[in-house]
This record gives sequence, C-alpha cells and structure tokens, in this order.
Amino acid sequence: MNKIQVCTRCVMDTTDRDIVFNEKGICNHCLEFDANVDYRVLRGDKGKIALKAIVEKIKVKGRGKEYDCIVGVSGGVDSTFVAYKCKQLGLRPLAVHLDNGWNSELAVSNIERTLKKLNFDLLTYVLDWREFKDLQLSFLKASTPDGEVPTDHAIFALLLKIAKEKNISYIMNGMNYLTEASTVPSWSYGHGDWQYINYIQKKFGKAKLSKYPHYTTWDLFYMLFVKRLKFVSILNYIDYNKDEAMGLLEKELGWQYYGGKHHESTYTKFFQAFILPFKFSIDKRKIHLSNGIQSGHITRSFALEELKKSIYSEDQLVADKEFVAKKLAISIEKFEEIMSQPPKYYTDYPNSSKKYFLLKRVQYTLRKLGIFHR
Ligand SMILES: [Zn+2]
Repeated sequence: MNKIQVCTRCVMDTTDRDIVFNEKGICNHCLEFDANVDYRVLRGDKGKIALKAIVEKIKVKGRGKEYDCIVGVSGGVDSTFVAYKCKQLGLRPLAVHLDNGWNSELAVSNIERTLKKLNFDLLTYVLDWREFKDLQLSFLKASTPDGEVPTDHAIFALLLKIAKEKNISYIMNGMNYLTEASTVPSWSYGHGDWQYINYIQKKFGKAKLSKYPHYTTWDLFYMLFVKRLKFVSILNYIDYNKDEAMGLLEKELGWQYYGGKHHESTYTKFFQAFILPFKFSIDKRKIHLSNGIQSGHITRSFALEELKKSIYSEDQLVADKEFVAKKLAISIEKFEEIMSQPPKYYTDYPNSSKKYFLLKRVQYTLRKLGIFHR
C-alpha cells in the first residue's frame, strides 16, 4: 500500500483519493477554506447587520402566511440552536423533522421538549420503513461510502416539498462553514443525485421507491430560480460557539447532550464510527478537525492527538452491530459478507455528478456575487 501523505497544515490525507497538495504540502481543502471563508462567514457587527437585513426580508415576504420560514430539526445542537435563534429574531418557522426510523429516544425527546418551549409547530414526516430499509441495504450492497445519502436526500427533498406546498420562501439551516466547510466527494457523494440513488436501488434493491421523498436536479433548479427559494445558514452570521450553545440550550430549553457529532441517530453513529473507518479507511473526524484547524479553533497537534483516540468501545460496537443488522433484517453473517466486498465509489455507477458539480459551481459564483446567501 502507498504511504499516506498528510497535509502540513491540517490533518487531511491521501485517504481522500482526490486530495492534491501544493509545493508546501498544503492541501486543496485548506486552500479552498482560505479562499472562501471571508465571504462565507461574517463575524461581529458585519454579521449582525447582514442577518438583520435578511430577517426583515423574511418577515416582509412571510406577511399574511401561516409561517415565514422552515427550520429542519434533528434534535442535535446546531439545528436546535437555529430554532432558538429564529425565536430570538422574531421569526415564525414551521419546524420539520424527518423520522427515518433510527432516531435515538433522546433526539426525539429533545425535539419535542425544545419546540414546545419555543412554541413552534412541528411537522414530522415518517419514512416508509419497508422502502427505506431496503434502500439503506442497497447502498451497503453497492459497497460505496455513501450509505448516509438515502437519509440526507430525503431530508432535503422533504424541505423542498414543504416549501413548495406551503409557499414558503426561506429555509433556515444549521450549516456552519467554520466546522463543516469542506465536502469530500470521494468520502460521500450523491446527496443531491437522484439518478445515482435510483440506479443503486434498481440494481441492488427489492422495493419500489414509491413513497420515498426525492427530487431531481431540475426540481432543485425550479425551486431556486423560479420559486426563488433561499437557504439561510444562520450560524455563518453569528459568532457561533458550540459549547456555549449547548450550555444555553440546556439551560433555556431543557435540551440534553447525546454524545459525539451526529450521534443522535444510531445508524449515523454506526456508519461513521464503524463502517467508514473499517471498510473504507475513512475517518470523518479528520475533515471536522481540519476545519477546526483552518478556522483557528484548535491546533494541529491537538487534532493529531484526538485522532489517536478510539472511536468505538468494543462492547458498544458489538451491541450496535447486532442492533443494526437486526433492524435491517439481515443476519450478522450476511452483514459481514457485505462488509467484506471490495470498496467501490459512485464513479463505478451511472450518476449525474457532472450536472451536480456544474450546479455547485453556478451556486459558488452566485454566492461570490452576493446573489446567494451564505
Ligand atoms: Zn490541509
């Protein structure tokens, strides 16, 4: 096996197949971060002023409507904080939650408790379990690292659908550029690619996806450019500190901490903390820690120490593996057999990545021109 090369500034390495380094050994993720951070993140008064202007627009546009925006909630800290912030700003959101069958009890109770305190309406959409389970299994059988795509795609599709039905023009989200700046397509691709998802299901699945919420690139284009739907990442306009946010939410809304990042869902936890590292040598902590280094929140040596820590305790792993296999209705032997298949990538299957990356570039340009929000 080739020796792994690590970026000299962050902790990203050649486990990202597409990574490139400059002559100083600095990776493309660091360079992209530096090039974009100033227009994606507005700190201090600049952020306050920009956010105030957007909030005014949202209120005007929402006049006479039941809701003026949508906020997607998962029970995690970021999305709960966005809902809290909406209340502070005097917005009238409809909170939307996708139940994919894997939520921890704590996540569900967090959502119910905090929204009750905020006095926001909640719309929970429950996925058809027979279809969804089959789709998750299809992605495991496809042997790509994209096993979280079925959930991510459905969440986004649901938000688009509700925005269209209820004629809502703004979606508030918890994307935080300082900690989630980088996307790594070789680690996870397909969130917006219905052609790819549909192909994987047809090739490996049994169920027909008749109820699963989905959207095409055209649907997205229509919502963005015809219906003028806008996404606002509130956290990019405020001096967001996750630890402080957690303390505040605990105190003000009775929210409870649930463990590591994205561990509000058992499947997400198992997928990120076991399947990705074990089968694909992908450790997603590397990209999050790297964003922390790039934004100056942590040092590189701290990140390297963090990466030495084990992700899973042996007991918890055995228990979660049994739980996941049972819920997907396969035996442990079948699960191990799937895990032993050689890794593949989205590039091994038909997909719309060319169209998708083109749309991303258009979005990037529009953001730079100030036409798209941060
Ligand atoms: Zn780097």
